[in-house]
Amino acid sequence: MKYLKFKNSSEQIPIGKLVCVGRNYAAHAKELGSEVPEFPIIFLKPASNVIYSGESVVHPSHSKNLHHEVELVLYIGEDIKNATDITAERAIQGYTVGLDMTLRDLQFEFKEKGDPWTLAKCFDTAAVLTDVVLKKDYQLKGDENISLSVNGTLRQNSSIRNMIFSPVEIVKFISARMTLEKGDLIFTGTPEGVGSVVQGDKIEASLENIGKITTQIE
Ligand code: ZN
Repeated sequence: MKYLKFKNSSEQIPIGKLVCVGRNYAAHAKELGSEVPEFPIIFLKPASNVIYSGESVVHPSHSKNLHHEVELVLYIGEDIKNATDITAERAIQGYTVGLDMTLRDLQFEFKEKGDPWTLAKCFDTAAVLTDVVLKKDYQLKGDENISLSVNGTLRQNSSIRNMIFSPVEIVKFISARMTLEKGDLIFTGTPEGVGSVVQGDKIEASLENIGKITTQIE
């Protein structure tokens, strides 16, 4: 079982499901040749995919195009169903930065065939996290910088203000369709600049005032 890590708290909370939003930045939807969605596009990753900053992402041998996606991640701190603006805001009890590692070649194949993306998004080490910053320690202002570099070269550099759906809108949308539970994490989508990484590459990913991930591909 994987546990959450918190900054300034030693609480032991198992990681629940990882609910991920696709195409939540218009410029990223465009770079993938996709339309800007009318509703959030949702997929899941299992908690067993999680590793922490400092550990290595293992490049699966069944893909030739492993991509990085840096994202704001919401920590759900209480069970919630059919959230309102107020209860959604209350259920989001912290934030961290995450990497949604993606097998882009498989994803394009699956999309073309109309098959589920599951195996493009789910593999061991496919979700990289760092410590959750609780809201009582820091409230997001909404214009924090989000960035990622590979071997020192900046590839993704945006602001969370460019998100199409806000954290509250995302929690309302998901919780109207499935219960969110304490320990669940929501990956809120990546800005433009996604690209390939290969074995030996070093990734640094940051979300301003929240945290930084360092990892390498092995
Ligand atoms: Zn993503």
